[in-house]
Amino acid sequence: MARYTGASCRLCRREGQKLFLKGERCYGTKCALEKRNYAPGQHGQARKSKMTEYGLQLREKQKAKRFYGILETQFRNYFEKAAKKKGMTGENLLVLLESRLDNVVFRMGFASSRKEARQLVTHNHFVVNGSKQNIPSFQVKAGDVVKVKEKSTASPKFKEIKDMAISTPSWISVDTEKLEGKVIALPTREEIDTPIAEHLIVELYSK
Ligand code: SF4
Repeated sequence: MARYTGASCRLCRREGQKLFLKGERCYGTKCALEKRNYAPGQHGQARKSKMTEYGLQLREKQKAKRFYGILETQFRNYFEKAAKKKGMTGENLLVLLESRLDNVVFRMGFASSRKEARQLVTHNHFVVNGSKQNIPSFQVKAGDVVKVKEKSTASPKFKEIKDMAISTPSWISVDTEKLEGKVIALPTREEIDTPIAEHLIVELYSK
């Protein structure tokens, strides 16, 4: 399972936007983008030239990949799957990305970032509809129940969730006492707050 292993903050600085890859740190003054809001590297502070249309499309695709922690080939596969579905390809793409198990765990508020959610999933802390599931890209469906595995409920990480006030998107409900969340329905575009202009990605891949 390939994943990006470089410095997360560099990705935000490259996109010039917070991608919230490091949990709590992203909300405080230690956020690298608060201190150095320019692209990484030797020429990061050079005056920015106007971006071409292709450049804009490319950056949007890179941003989406980085938000969800996905590498190029897998992202392309998601796009092709989205294009085969009925409806708007860009919206389908975002819904597919939101339906990943690691994203759902993050949206449930059981992890402070998608990166942490991915790690919790691969470390076997969750069951989906009662069955073990440790694949971050597993696609959840409407009605699925994602629950912390019985054995894991004693860990301090999950114990503290029981006392937390968690706010979730409207398409997910969470019961912190039971340490479980339910996917009420897959999200609509309006319910996805990731700041991505998906039409630019569609334009890029449609060339
Ligand atoms: Fe991005 Fe978070 Fe690093 Fe800030 S702290 S640059 S939001 S990953």
